[in-house]
Amino acid sequence: MSSPRLTLFSTKAYDIDAFDTATAPVGDPGHVDVVYLETGLDSTTAALARGSDAVCVFVNDFVDAATLDALDEAGVGAVALRCAGFNNVDVERAHALGIRVVRVPAYSPNAVAEHTLALMLTLNRQIHRAHNRVRDGNFSLQGLVGFDMAGKRAAVVGTGHIGRIVARLLWHLRCDVVAVDPFEDEHLVDLGVRYVELHEALADADIVTLNCPLLESTHHLIDDETLPIMKPGVMLVNTGRGALIDTDAVIDALKSGRVGSLALDVYEEEGDLFFEDRSEQVLHDDTFARLLTFPNVLITAHQAFLTREALDAIATTTLRNVVSVAAGEPCDNEVHPPN
Ligand code: NAD
Repeated sequence: MSSPRLTLFSTKAYDIDAFDTATAPVGDPGHVDVVYLETGLDSTTAALARGSDAVCVFVNDFVDAATLDALDEAGVGAVALRCAGFNNVDVERAHALGIRVVRVPAYSPNAVAEHTLALMLTLNRQIHRAHNRVRDGNFSLQGLVGFDMAGKRAAVVGTGHIGRIVARLLWHLRCDVVAVDPFEDEHLVDLGVRYVELHEALADADIVTLNCPLLESTHHLIDDETLPIMKPGVMLVNTGRGALIDTDAVIDALKSGRVGSLALDVYEEEGDLFFEDRSEQVLHDDTFARLLTFPNVLITAHQAFLTREALDAIATTTLRNVVSVAAGEPCDNEVHPPN
């Protein structure tokens, strides 16, 4: 039997390294023929995958109904997400077309959790600003006052694979950790982490970290209604998905001081910005440009996942998913439409 063929969209050099290393040798039953494309996937580029068994996409590829129809027309039978979140795929449409959707549910939750903590500590102690000052010969400490993390109330919203590690890391820093999740993690409860309702968590927390998926129910979880509940001066951290936060509302809250500091690895409109070098271009996104003006805002461009271990695990699991799907076998990592 010939090897399955996979067309990888939105390819970066680090993807090629990881997939080339992970794929089994030609002739091995686990081998996958990978075609690398730099372009993103949408309805206009789907035809490039003609002849492939599956396409492989990342967080900002646009796998809506029109894209899926075009993939179906091109004879592609599966969408393999090389990420955990699947909010960019119309899963119901895929199901209706018989296109299977698979993902990598937990490639390295440590990578994202550690980046979440890195953002918190950097923002709190203003390491990024201090570094620039020292390089510039400015040794003043003015404006760099942080706070002790120990003893602060930290609310972790979503304690799945990633959030439970974030909660544990914060517990090790001796924060008073509360959690919000419909499903309680018994190991966290054993540590003394209390599960509370979202509003209660937001009302008392000095630090709020968003580690839940983007769903209809979590879209703009932080908005004009929830921001006024939050403790004045709260540190807000989002490494989940951009649209968990209503960005305009959070900008108002930064201006009023309700939000004391903000760290983002994800942004609502990141699809038009992230993963490319745009340093020679004029920035057209006025909301993002406004965010960049705040001294108390720290942004990374969706890099929380980017460790060697995570990239290797993503490639290995994705290739395994593709082999299973191409063989018509069941796959544990399949995404099904909600009932
Ligand atoms: P997971 O599915 O293991 O855990 C998500 C948790 O959120 C679950 O326990 C779920 O019950 C909980 N949840 C769902 N709705 C909730 C709500 N309304 N309030 C509170 N909790 C709720 O997922 P994970 O692997 O921990 O990843 C979480 C999210 O992180 C992903 O969906 C993805 O969007 C994001 N992520 C970001 C990066 C990055 O590089 N920035 C990388 C991987 C994942």
